[in-house]
Amino acid sequence: MVSKHPEIVLASGNQGKIKEFKAMLTDYTIIPQGQFQIKEIEETGTTFVENAILKARNAVFHSKFPAIADDSGLVVDALGGAPGVISARYAGNSASDNDNILKLLDVVRNIPEQQRSARFICVLVFMEHLNDPCPIITQGIWKGRIILQPTGKNGFGYDSVFWVNEYNCTSAQLSREIKNTLSHRGIALKSLVQQIKAKYSE
Ligand code: IMP
Repeated sequence: MVSKHPEIVLASGNQGKIKEFKAMLTDYTIIPQGQFQIKEIEETGTTFVENAILKARNAVFHSKFPAIADDSGLVVDALGGAPGVISARYAGNSASDNDNILKLLDVVRNIPEQQRSARFICVLVFMEHLNDPCPIITQGIWKGRIILQPTGKNGFGYDSVFWVNEYNCTSAQLSREIKNTLSHRGIALKSLVQQIKAKYSE
Protein backbone atom coordinates (compact mmCIF):
# COMPACT_ATOMS: atom_id res chain seq x y z
CA MET A 1 0.00 0.00 0.00
CA VAL A 2 1.32 3.42 -0.89
CA SER A 3 0.47 6.04 1.70
CA LYS A 4 0.15 9.70 0.78
CA HIS A 5 0.65 10.62 4.43
CA PRO A 6 2.85 8.08 6.17
CA GLU A 7 3.17 10.19 9.30
CA ILE A 8 0.25 10.56 11.69
CA VAL A 9 0.27 12.52 14.93
CA LEU A 10 -1.44 10.96 17.91
CA ALA A 11 -3.21 13.51 20.11
CA SER A 12 -2.40 11.70 23.34
CA GLY A 13 0.46 11.47 25.80
CA ASN A 14 -0.79 8.20 27.30
CA GLN A 15 1.99 5.59 26.86
CA GLY A 16 -0.45 2.67 26.80
CA LYS A 17 -2.48 4.23 24.01
CA ILE A 18 0.65 5.18 22.04
CA LYS A 19 1.76 1.51 22.13
CA GLU A 20 -1.69 0.27 21.10
CA PHE A 21 -1.95 2.63 18.13
CA LYS A 22 1.60 1.90 16.95
CA ALA A 23 0.90 -1.83 17.07
CA MET A 24 -2.23 -1.52 14.93
CA LEU A 25 -1.06 1.13 12.44
CA THR A 26 2.18 -0.48 11.33
CA ASP A 27 2.04 1.09 7.84
CA TYR A 28 2.35 4.56 9.37
CA THR A 29 4.76 6.45 11.55
CA ILE A 30 2.80 7.35 14.67
CA ILE A 31 4.21 10.48 16.31
CA PRO A 32 2.92 11.33 19.80
CA GLN A 33 1.89 14.99 19.93
CA GLY A 34 4.38 15.58 22.77
CA GLN A 35 7.16 15.41 20.18
CA PHE A 36 5.79 18.67 18.77
CA GLN A 37 5.44 20.15 22.28
CA ILE A 38 1.67 20.20 21.72
CA LYS A 39 -0.19 20.61 25.00
CA GLU A 40 -3.49 18.89 25.75
CA ILE A 41 -6.46 21.07 24.82
CA GLU A 42 -9.34 21.73 27.22
CA GLU A 43 -12.20 19.27 26.66
CA THR A 44 -15.12 21.69 26.43
CA GLY A 45 -17.51 19.48 24.41
CA THR A 46 -20.58 17.85 25.88
CA THR A 47 -20.16 14.73 23.74
CA PHE A 48 -17.25 12.34 23.16
CA VAL A 49 -17.22 13.11 19.45
CA GLU A 50 -16.96 16.87 20.01
CA ASN A 51 -14.00 16.39 22.34
CA ALA A 52 -12.25 13.97 19.99
CA ILE A 53 -12.64 16.46 17.12
CA LEU A 54 -11.28 19.30 19.29
CA LYS A 55 -8.22 17.22 20.18
CA ALA A 56 -7.60 16.09 16.58
CA ARG A 57 -7.93 19.63 15.18
CA ASN A 58 -5.55 20.98 17.83
CA ALA A 59 -2.94 18.35 16.92
CA VAL A 60 -3.31 19.02 13.17
CA PHE A 61 -3.13 22.78 13.71
CA HIS A 62 0.13 22.65 15.64
CA SER A 63 1.86 19.81 13.78
CA LYS A 64 0.56 20.31 10.20
CA PHE A 65 0.29 16.51 9.96
CA PRO A 66 -2.84 14.33 9.86
CA ALA A 67 -3.88 13.39 13.39
CA ILE A 68 -5.76 10.74 15.35
CA ALA A 69 -7.51 11.67 18.59
CA ASP A 70 -9.71 9.74 20.99
CA ASP A 71 -12.15 10.46 23.74
CA SER A 72 -13.62 7.84 26.00
CA GLY A 73 -15.50 7.32 29.22
CA LEU A 74 -18.09 5.42 31.20
CA VAL A 75 -21.82 5.92 30.67
CA VAL A 76 -24.19 4.64 33.38
CA ASP A 77 -27.79 4.36 32.18
CA ALA A 78 -29.46 4.97 35.56
CA LEU A 79 -27.41 8.16 35.96
CA GLY A 80 -28.58 9.67 32.68
CA GLY A 81 -25.23 8.89 31.06
CA ALA A 82 -22.96 10.19 33.87
CA PRO A 83 -20.04 10.29 34.38
CA GLY A 84 -19.79 10.47 30.55
CA VAL A 85 -17.35 13.00 29.14
CA ILE A 86 -16.15 13.94 32.62
CA SER A 87 -15.26 10.32 33.54
CA ALA A 88 -11.61 11.19 34.23
CA ARG A 89 -12.56 14.08 36.53
CA TYR A 90 -15.88 12.86 37.99
CA ALA A 91 -14.74 13.48 41.57
CA GLY A 92 -12.92 16.73 40.74
CA ASN A 93 -10.25 18.09 38.44
CA SER A 94 -7.34 16.36 40.13
CA ALA A 95 -9.26 13.21 41.12
CA SER A 96 -7.50 9.84 41.07
CA ASP A 97 -9.08 6.69 39.61
CA ASN A 98 -9.85 5.63 43.17
CA ASP A 99 -11.59 8.96 43.98
CA ASN A 100 -13.75 8.56 40.87
CA ILE A 101 -14.67 4.97 41.74
CA LEU A 102 -15.62 5.96 45.30
CA LYS A 103 -17.86 8.73 44.00
CA LEU A 104 -19.49 6.40 41.49
CA LEU A 105 -20.14 3.73 44.11
CA ASP A 106 -21.61 6.31 46.42
CA VAL A 107 -24.04 7.44 43.74
CA VAL A 108 -25.11 3.96 42.56
CA ARG A 109 -25.16 2.25 45.96
CA ASN A 110 -28.96 2.30 46.26
CA ILE A 111 -29.67 1.41 42.67
CA PRO A 112 -30.69 -2.28 42.30
CA GLU A 113 -28.12 -4.46 40.51
CA GLN A 114 -30.30 -5.08 37.45
CA GLN A 115 -30.56 -1.32 36.89
CA ARG A 116 -26.82 -0.71 37.09
CA SER A 117 -26.24 -1.26 33.35
CA ALA A 118 -23.36 0.74 31.94
CA ARG A 119 -21.13 0.99 28.90
CA PHE A 120 -17.68 2.20 28.04
CA ILE A 121 -17.60 4.41 24.94
CA CYS A 122 -14.63 5.31 22.79
CA VAL A 123 -14.77 7.73 19.86
CA LEU A 124 -11.81 8.02 17.50
CA VAL A 125 -11.25 10.72 14.91
CA PHE A 126 -8.79 10.81 12.04
CA MET A 127 -8.43 14.34 10.64
CA GLU A 128 -6.32 14.71 7.51
CA HIS A 129 -5.86 18.48 7.47
CA LEU A 130 -7.19 21.59 9.19
CA ASN A 131 -10.09 22.06 6.77
CA ASP A 132 -10.89 18.35 6.44
CA PRO A 133 -14.69 18.45 5.96
CA CYS A 134 -15.08 14.72 6.44
CA PRO A 135 -12.87 13.29 9.19
CA ILE A 136 -13.07 9.54 9.75
CA ILE A 137 -15.06 8.93 12.96
CA THR A 138 -15.49 5.54 14.62
CA GLN A 139 -17.18 4.57 17.86
CA GLY A 140 -16.76 1.48 20.03
CA ILE A 141 -19.21 0.44 22.75
CA TRP A 142 -18.61 -2.14 25.49
CA LYS A 143 -21.62 -3.09 27.59
CA GLY A 144 -21.43 -4.18 31.22
CA ARG A 145 -22.73 -3.48 34.69
CA ILE A 146 -21.42 -1.63 37.75
CA ILE A 147 -20.67 -3.78 40.79
CA LEU A 148 -20.35 -2.37 44.30
CA GLN A 149 -17.14 -4.15 45.33
CA PRO A 150 -13.99 -3.18 43.36
CA THR A 151 -12.40 -6.42 42.10
CA GLY A 152 -9.22 -7.07 40.11
CA LYS A 153 -5.89 -5.31 39.66
CA ASN A 154 -5.44 -4.91 35.88
CA GLY A 155 -6.32 -1.93 33.73
CA PHE A 156 -7.14 1.55 34.97
CA GLY A 157 -10.06 3.93 35.53
CA TYR A 158 -13.33 2.14 36.33
CA ASP A 159 -12.15 -1.34 35.27
CA SER A 160 -12.41 -2.82 38.77
CA VAL A 161 -16.15 -2.03 39.05
CA PHE A 162 -17.13 -2.87 35.44
CA TRP A 163 -18.65 -6.36 35.31
CA VAL A 164 -18.21 -8.28 32.05
CA ASN A 165 -20.96 -10.90 31.78
CA GLU A 166 -19.37 -13.04 29.05
CA TYR A 167 -16.29 -13.64 31.21
CA ASN A 168 -18.01 -13.57 34.60
CA CYS A 169 -15.45 -11.15 36.01
CA THR A 170 -14.59 -7.46 36.02
CA SER A 171 -12.64 -5.75 33.30
CA ALA A 172 -9.77 -5.43 35.82
CA GLN A 173 -9.55 -9.25 35.95
CA LEU A 174 -9.08 -9.63 32.19
CA SER A 175 -5.67 -9.82 30.53
CA ARG A 176 -4.77 -6.84 28.34
CA GLU A 177 -5.04 -9.08 25.25
CA ILE A 178 -8.59 -10.22 26.05
CA LYS A 179 -9.65 -6.71 27.04
CA ASN A 180 -8.42 -5.38 23.68
CA THR A 181 -10.60 -7.86 21.78
CA LEU A 182 -13.74 -6.82 23.69
CA SER A 183 -13.24 -3.21 24.61
CA HIS A 184 -14.72 0.02 23.28
CA ARG A 185 -11.18 1.19 22.34
CA GLY A 186 -10.28 -2.07 20.58
CA ILE A 187 -13.51 -2.02 18.54
CA ALA A 188 -13.18 1.67 17.57
CA LEU A 189 -9.50 1.26 16.70
CA LYS A 190 -10.07 -1.78 14.48
CA SER A 191 -12.68 0.10 12.48
CA LEU A 192 -10.51 3.25 12.26
CA VAL A 193 -7.55 1.27 10.94
CA GLN A 194 -9.72 -0.35 8.24
CA GLN A 195 -11.10 3.02 7.16
CA ILE A 196 -7.71 4.77 7.07
CA LYS A 197 -6.31 1.91 4.97
CA ALA A 198 -9.28 2.10 2.61
CA LYS A 199 -8.92 5.87 2.27
CA TYR A 200 -5.27 5.67 1.23
CA SER A 201 -5.64 2.70 -1.07
CA GLU A 202 -8.38 4.37 -3.17
P1 IMP B 1 -9.55 9.23 28.28
O1 IMP B 1 -9.98 8.53 27.05
O2 IMP B 1 -8.11 8.97 28.60
O3 IMP B 1 -9.93 10.67 28.28
O4 IMP B 1 -10.33 8.49 29.45
C1 IMP B 1 -11.43 9.04 30.10
C2 IMP B 1 -11.72 8.32 31.37
O5 IMP B 1 -12.70 7.32 31.12
C3 IMP B 1 -10.54 7.56 32.00
O6 IMP B 1 -9.79 8.39 32.84
C4 IMP B 1 -11.27 6.48 32.77
O7 IMP B 1 -11.73 7.00 33.98
C5 IMP B 1 -12.46 6.18 31.88
N1 IMP B 1 -12.13 5.08 30.96
C6 IMP B 1 -12.00 5.15 29.61
N2 IMP B 1 -11.68 3.94 29.11
C7 IMP B 1 -11.60 3.11 30.17
C8 IMP B 1 -11.28 1.72 30.29
O8 IMP B 1 -10.96 1.01 29.32
N3 IMP B 1 -11.30 1.23 31.53
C9 IMP B 1 -11.62 1.96 32.63
N4 IMP B 1 -11.90 3.24 32.58
C10 IMP B 1 -11.89 3.83 31.34
